[in-house]
Amino acid sequence: MIPSDLIAKKRDGESLSKKEIYWFINSFLNATISESQMASLLMTIFYRGMNSEEISDLVNVMIESGSKLNFPGSENFIADKHSTGGIGDKTSLILAPILGALGLKIPMIAGRALAFTGGTIDKLESIPGFRSAQTIKNLKRLIIKNNCAIVSQSNEICPADQKIYKLRDITATIPSLPLITSSIMSKKLSEGIEALVLDIKVGNGAFIKTLKEGKILAKLMRETGNRFNLKTDFIFSSMDQPLGRYAGLACEVHESMKTLSGDGPKDLIKLTLKLGSKLLIQSGLVANFDEAINLQKAVIQNGNALEKFRTMIKAQGGDLDSFRKLNQPKYTSYILAESDGNLTSFNTEKIGWGLVEMGCGYKYKNTKLDYSSGIEFMKKIGDDITKGETVYRIFNSNKEKLKVASNLLEKTFKISNKIPAFKLIIHEY
Ligand code: URA
Repeated sequence: MIPSDLIAKKRDGESLSKKEIYWFINSFLNATISESQMASLLMTIFYRGMNSEEISDLVNVMIESGSKLNFPGSENFIADKHSTGGIGDKTSLILAPILGALGLKIPMIAGRALAFTGGTIDKLESIPGFRSAQTIKNLKRLIIKNNCAIVSQSNEICPADQKIYKLRDITATIPSLPLITSSIMSKKLSEGIEALVLDIKVGNGAFIKTLKEGKILAKLMRETGNRFNLKTDFIFSSMDQPLGRYAGLACEVHESMKTLSGDGPKDLIKLTLKLGSKLLIQSGLVANFDEAINLQKAVIQNGNALEKFRTMIKAQGGDLDSFRKLNQPKYTSYILAESDGNLTSFNTEKIGWGLVEMGCGYKYKNTKLDYSSGIEFMKKIGDDITKGETVYRIFNSNKEKLKVASNLLEKTFKISNKIPAFKLIIHEY
């Protein structure tokens, strides 16, 4: 087979056979096919799409690129959650230990920053010593011992997604429904889980801009799950504003720990517990939503969820004592309101790009992240604002980058006299 011939085939609207998809992906993994050829194929998929057979073949070859976890004879319910990506979305950091404290097993394979959205793994790596890459054997050991772990793709676990994900990030090929489906589902199906809840982010700070498009993605993911006997639930949540009070790297870990200790922002708690309730109901541990919420609140109140977070981090080499003293930003700047009124909207994607400029994401292939960087959102949609008040406090350790981001961020919110409408949870499926 000839790589450019297959790229041309997809470019001209034809579909690829199983043999062709397997050959292309495996040749990319063994470096016979170059990054530029893979990037071209990704861009043609972005424009031309894939039919369900092609998606299924792509998911399969991506799973088979690594090993699958399994927990034979486990009495605990094995489940996970994944999001399609947003700004300030730290629900994974909070939900894995909550569910772990409740006895579910959560072998979470998470991602790094993608385009303007933040990455769970990058946030966790702000903790000194934290090892996100684990062997299959070690990951299994961590799950059996502690119930939860959050790891990255690796040479053993979904290596195809690891390589393709990195390339999609820097080639503007993320918002493709077949590519999102194959990326997420190959990781989750490699985990050997029984149930999955997906948080489909919809809005101006998400890859999916409309509920209609989100529903198409959900259908693709559910079909993929069904083929593998994996139960899927979907929450469609708004990304028309950042989630919680902080977006960035170390600051999101701090906010997660605060939330686990019972002192988190309302929107973040609401979404996290809603996602958790889907899995708790699937597990049979509770009969309904109210019971699921109460159970999760109980492990926050009695300290077990925070303790589980500490155990999970320590088991993966992280040093939370040093973390508390590290990652102090050298520079801080304030974005102020220029008029009185209500905060009516954000340009959330642009906020995400501001975060990338500050050092929270990958502008280039080898960008070095600045773990101290982030934004504190002093105001959210619907809040009253007086001229001169701080809307964002922005911080990092590179003056030049902070200035670039500051210029970008000044134009990312609107103040008017209108009373805005905002709904966090848009739909369930
Ligand atoms: N999260 C993933 O893991 N992959 C995507 O493509 C998008 C979000």
